[in-house]
Amino acid sequence: MNYPVDQRLCQEILLAESPQEILFSLFKRFKERAAIVTSGQLSGMVMVHLAAENQLPFRVCTLDTLRLFPETYDFFEKVESRYGIQIEQIQPDPQEVQEMISQHGEYLFFDSKAKQEYCCNIRKVRPMQRLLETLDVWITGLRRDQSDARKELRKAEIISSATHPVLKVSPLIHWTTDEVWQFVRDNEIPVNPLLETDVQGHYYESLGCVICTTPIKPGEPNRAGRWRWQNATHAPENDNTEENTKECGLHYSI
Ligand code: SF4
Repeated sequence: MNYPVDQRLCQEILLAESPQEILFSLFKRFKERAAIVTSGQLSGMVMVHLAAENQLPFRVCTLDTLRLFPETYDFFEKVESRYGIQIEQIQPDPQEVQEMISQHGEYLFFDSKAKQEYCCNIRKVRPMQRLLETLDVWITGLRRDQSDARKELRKAEIISSATHPVLKVSPLIHWTTDEVWQFVRDNEIPVNPLLETDVQGHYYESLGCVICTTPIKPGEPNRAGRWRWQNATHAPENDNTEENTKECGLHYSI
C-alpha cells in the first residue's frame, strides 16, 4: 500500500531535526517511490553521500539535457563508482527536441528569455514532469542561500504531478555555502572539477548546460553566470530586473 502524501507527512518532515532523520523516514516509507534528483552540485552530492553512508539505497536521478559539460558526464561516472550506484539519466523526448531545433534553431536561448525558458522546458521541466509520475517524494539539494529567488523555499511542500501529489523535500535548505563546503571536505565527497576550477579569477558557482553557464567573478550573485547575456542592459528583449530570477523553471513551474 502506498504511504499517503499529505499535510501530516509534510509537517513531520518540517519538524525533523537532521537531513539523516529525513532520509531514514522517507526511505522507510517510500523506497523506490522516492528519489534524490541532483545536477551533481555540492548539496546534491551531500544528499547522495548521506544516503550511501546510512545505507539507504535511494534512486539517484539527474536531468541530462544532452547539453551538460563533458566534465559533468565524467563526474557522474566517478560518483557511480565511488558509491556503487547507478545514476538514472533522465533525458528529453527526442522528438520534442528535434521539433524545437527545427523551428527555432539549436541556440534559441540567445534570442529571448521566453525562448530560453522554452528550451529549459523541453530539456528539463518536461523530463522532470515525466520522472515525477514515478515518484511520491522528490528530494533536492536546494538551499536558501543560493539566490534571492530561493530565499523563500520551504524544506518540505506538497506539489502536484499530472496525476498525484508529490512531497518535495530539501533537507539542506538552511545550510550555508561554507557549511556545505566544510562537510564536503570533511567527508571527502567527490566534487565536479568545474566547481574547483579557477578561470582567471572567475569560478563556477552553479552548473548547468554548456554555453548557458559561465563562471562568475568574486562579488557577483551566485547565479549571475547563468544565461549571462541576459545581464546585458542593452538587450531590450531581455528582462534585467530583479524579477529575472535566473531560474530554468524546474523549481517554480512544477
Ligand atoms: S540551460 Fe540553456 S541549453 Fe540548457 S535547457 Fe536551459 S536554455 Fe536549454
